[in-house]
Amino acid sequence: MSQSNAVRNPDNNADVIVVGAGPAGSTAATYLARSGVDVLLLEKSTFPRDKVCGDGLTPRGVKQVLALGVDVSGPDWLRNKGLRVIGGGRSLELPWPVLQDYPDFGLVRPRRDFDDILATLAVKAGARMRVATTVTAPIRDDRTGRIAGVTAKTPEGPTEFSAPLVLACDGVSARVALGMGINKRDDRPLGVAVRRYYRSPSRSDDDYLESHLELWDRSGERGSQRPKLLPGYGWIFGLGDGTVNVGLGMLNSSKAFGKTDYRALLRTWLDGTPQEWGLREENALGPIGGAGLPMGFNRTPHYADGLLLVGDAGGAVNPFNGEGIAYAMESAALAAESVLQALGRPAGASREAALEGYATAMKEHLGSYYRLGGVFSALIGKPSVMKTATRLGLPRKDLMYLVLKMLAGLYDSRDGDWADRVVRSLNRVAPSV
Ligand SMILES: Cc1cc2nc3c(=O)[nH]c(=O)nc-3n(C[C@H](O)[C@H](O)[C@H](O)COP(=O)(O)OP(=O)(O)OC[C@H]3O[C@@H](n4cnc5c(N)ncnc54)[C@H](O)[C@@H]3O)c2cc1C
Repeated sequence: MSQSNAVRNPDNNADVIVVGAGPAGSTAATYLARSGVDVLLLEKSTFPRDKVCGDGLTPRGVKQVLALGVDVSGPDWLRNKGLRVIGGGRSLELPWPVLQDYPDFGLVRPRRDFDDILATLAVKAGARMRVATTVTAPIRDDRTGRIAGVTAKTPEGPTEFSAPLVLACDGVSARVALGMGINKRDDRPLGVAVRRYYRSPSRSDDDYLESHLELWDRSGERGSQRPKLLPGYGWIFGLGDGTVNVGLGMLNSSKAFGKTDYRALLRTWLDGTPQEWGLREENALGPIGGAGLPMGFNRTPHYADGLLLVGDAGGAVNPFNGEGIAYAMESAALAAESVLQALGRPAGASREAALEGYATAMKEHLGSYYRLGGVFSALIGKPSVMKTATRLGLPRKDLMYLVLKMLAGLYDSRDGDWADRVVRSLNRVAPSV
């Protein structure tokens, strides 16, 4: 069960090990530590660190941040009022809806700060965080088949950490899940996204998140060629400090997926945006970063043998819009709740049932919605469907109000208006994944 050359130390034992201090890991560690659970939070990097992301929080993400008790009133949190959708020659501003379940504003905050704030919160709550600690594999109890801890590379050398429960919050790489034999599902959508920061004073203070449904290559225009439609969807999110986060994503339902140079695609698109926005090489801040978007629960089961998959490690990105922070934090809250219930029960069948409850709660919370999202992502990967939907949909305000609620998951779970009822009905008829 244990690796003989690894360092063993009682400080390396805990009730729960959380692997990865991204939004999922820090959120789960905070909730558990606040309830008195002894948590080891193992993180491969040191803070503050960057994470390739759009840095945007919809009201769904804001709700999770508020639930943790984070103060978002300061000027470093740039508030937004809604989503601006650009496509089919139109620009439409869709304010975030007023709801019982979610606030009516979004936020933008670079992940360099955001993740640091959440990790600090976990430590303040009492979690024992070890940075520069790269988990290399799960330790499995040969007798029971259950996870019993993890091995990691640390500055002190290879080290073993032991706990009867492990939360895999290690993001899209999902090393711990893979080590336990939980592989990626190919019947679920997958995305890829790239992003870069630019100096752009004219776009930096935008109080709407801007989403581009069509990306145009305008490089041939001077030579009288017509602009060419490029694959993928883009965003421009102002950071309020003279800079913007700009990026694009593509789904595996698109023909161009896997055959595209995403970094070149980003440059081609941005070269065709108005000069005054400043989205040109000379204003770029740092390199273009990219990563996968594991969507629609593309790694399950979410619970098995003492291991809970949380956030990106459990494929929790929303297939409708590529948003992942909110869902990483929501899944973390659900995981923490199940772990607390489990630890309060004696070891055995009842404790195991509480842990199984996490997988059930994930299904109940997002299963049907993500199933619908899978259908949606398959459709919009086809340029003809996307073009028709943009042309017919954008001019219809009522329809777009409904679409916003559906795509951003911003509907009330009880009461609400006609659009909330439509989204809830659609969820009811879709099978849960
Ligand atoms: C280009 C791009 C743009 C995006 N834009 C947005 C957006 O605007 N809004 C939004 O909501 N979502 C966005 N997402 C999705 C979002 O970034 C993720 O869904 C979110 O970060 C998931 O959080 P997580 O905690 O599950 O994983 P992560 O944020 O990936 O955190 C995982 C943590 O685990 C650590 N780790 C990994 N492996 C190990 C290991 N072996 N040992 C120890 N530690 C380890 C990592 O260092 C990291 O700290 C975007 C994604 C991409 C790629």
